[in-house]
Parts: sequence; C-alpha cells; structure tokens
Amino acid sequence: MARCSYHANVETELTCTECGKPICPKEMVLTPVGYKCPEHARAAKGQYQFVKPRQLAQAVGAGLLVGVGGAFVVAAIGFGGLFIGLIWGSLTSEAVRRASGGHRGGTVGTVAALSLVIGSLIAGVGFLTSVIALVVALVQLAVIEFR
Ligand SMILES: [Zn+2]
Ligand SMILES: [Zn+2]
Repeated sequence: MARCSYHANVETELTCTECGKPICPKEMVLTPVGYKCPEHARAAKGQYQFVKPRQLAQAVGAGLLVGVGGAFVVAAIGFGGLFIGLIWGSLTSEAVRRASGGHRGGTVGTVAALSLVIGSLIAGVGFLTSVIALVVALVQLAVIEFR
C-alpha cells in the first residue's frame, strides 16, 4: 500500500485523479470529477463550478428547445444520419452550455444527454443518429474525454 503524500505515516489506496499521487481521506477533496489532492481540487473547482439552480433551469430549457425540439427536425429530415446527428448533438450541447452560463461537466452533460434521449424517443430519431448526437454532446461538454 502507498503512503499519503501529506502524511508519511498514513497508508492509503486513494490517489488524486489528476496527478495520481497517494492521498488519504484527511486532505482528499471530492469533486464532480473524482477525488483530488488539495492542490488539484482548487484547479478543478475553477473548471467545474457548481451549477446554480437558475442556470440549471435555463440549461434544461435550452435542452428541451434544441435537444427535444431539434429531434423533430432531425426526424423530419430523415436522411444524412451521421452528419445530422453530429450537428444536432453539437447544437444541443452548445445551447445547454451557454444557457447554463458556460458550464461543462457532469451536470450540464446529463441535461444535454437526457434532452437528446427524450427527443430521440419522442420524435423517433434513428438509433445511430441518436448515439452520434449523444457522443458529440458529451465530448463537447467534457464528460467524455479522449486523450
Ligand atoms: Zn493532484
Ligand atoms: Zn494525508
């Protein structure tokens, strides 16, 4: 077992998700993107700020408008599946991000994803088109990261 970077006498299995150094429960900070050492928790806070209720409501509104509303447009067009899915997902994530005041990460990602899924089910968008839209939205909102 590794020893905590801050307390040499404490054994721990936890590591900072950012830098990977061993940390113990005493100083670890739970952020929306995992446990972090105090140093990186500060950095993560700036990046993934807490989404306020009003911002969340606006994000949901934008998601319904562009995600669900857009689904009907996508279903009506009915061709160009992958490309249309790309645009639909991209517009939805962008609308949700802006409406929330520029947030990215899990919370707004969930809003965008739910809008796309609900829209796709109601409007009857093709499976592949929906999946593409979903992946694009989650990547743009930094929920999925390719490194
Ligand atoms: Zn760290
Ligand atoms: Zn410690």
